[in-house]
Amino acid sequence: MEQKSSLLNQKGIFGAFLAVLLSFVLIQFPSCSSKNKQEVEEERSELIQPAKWWEKLPRPVYATLEKVETSQKWFEVYRLTEDTYAIYEPYQFEEAISYLLIGEEKVVVIDTGTGIGNLRQVVEDLTDLPASVVNTHTHWDHIGNNHQFKEIACYNNAECIEKIQKGIDNVSLQRSITGDSIWKPLPKWFDPAIWEIPSVEPTSLLEDSGLIELGGRSLEVIYTPGHSPGSICLLDKKNRILFTGDTFFPGPLYAYPEDVNIDEYITSIERLKSRLEEYDYLCSGHNDPWVKSEVISRVADAFKEIMAGKGNYKEESGIRRYYFDGFDILIRSDMIRKHKE
Ligand SMILES: [Zn+2]
Repeated sequence: MEQKSSLLNQKGIFGAFLAVLLSFVLIQFPSCSSKNKQEVEEERSELIQPAKWWEKLPRPVYATLEKVETSQKWFEVYRLTEDTYAIYEPYQFEEAISYLLIGEEKVVVIDTGTGIGNLRQVVEDLTDLPASVVNTHTHWDHIGNNHQFKEIACYNNAECIEKIQKGIDNVSLQRSITGDSIWKPLPKWFDPAIWEIPSVEPTSLLEDSGLIELGGRSLEVIYTPGHSPGSICLLDKKNRILFTGDTFFPGPLYAYPEDVNIDEYITSIERLKSRLEEYDYLCSGHNDPWVKSEVISRVADAFKEIMAGKGNYKEESGIRRYYFDGFDILIRSDMIRKHKE
């Protein structure tokens, strides 16, 4: 007993000595101590995913659009033109937007969102015609409900095809439905424990400048890689609308992930800028479904500014968020350096 307490005393003295030593090291070398990896991750995600992001909702544009009621409360649906609907998911951080385009013979769904809601039921609430899907690219939040449809088209690119074929497993998706990622209850029938994005087979492959005919309305495929391999935009010439996927949306443009090719991204924005006379509005993959097209010129200028070493930004863990009017750009600092070389 005595021996034990004397051992405790020795430990106590040793512990106190260690604490003094450690605090000395921390004061002298704060950079090696003050942030553990988890904290750095949290800070990085604050730059990308601000806490309580939903407090800024609803976004002002929605008050100017015609809201349409459907049976699926996970979505908000807005009528943009007589035969074009935006199907918006405001309760999940991505604020994904899919689009329903109704032609005289065919119906196209551009992107299928996160997969949390029943998108097909929304489509069936709005039209009797069978719908086929066109994916602007194959990030998870654009292919979530592909499996609900028989016809799936994506760009003829090996990585795009593989992602759709592979699907996404339950574990990889958990982050998207936990913590601050959602702020309203998930649909009652939705089970997070078994949720996945099932693998499906693309039924048609798109080429640059190809046309998708809907009857009295067509969509031109514009190949715009950069945000991801095989990213496309779709031009509805008749309605003068450009569906941009993630190549542009009014928010922080993702130019930092591993599958981004920054040089291709810049070229793609320049390509869209060269065709500005053909469209008045952008229907983007996130946040706002109705954005004036002039912003594309400013995105082109923004990339030039960044690559020239200008622009206002905050940086965490090598990722910079540059601030512009109506959009931001998230980019890795090493991308800027490599671009200059
Ligand atoms: Zn994306």
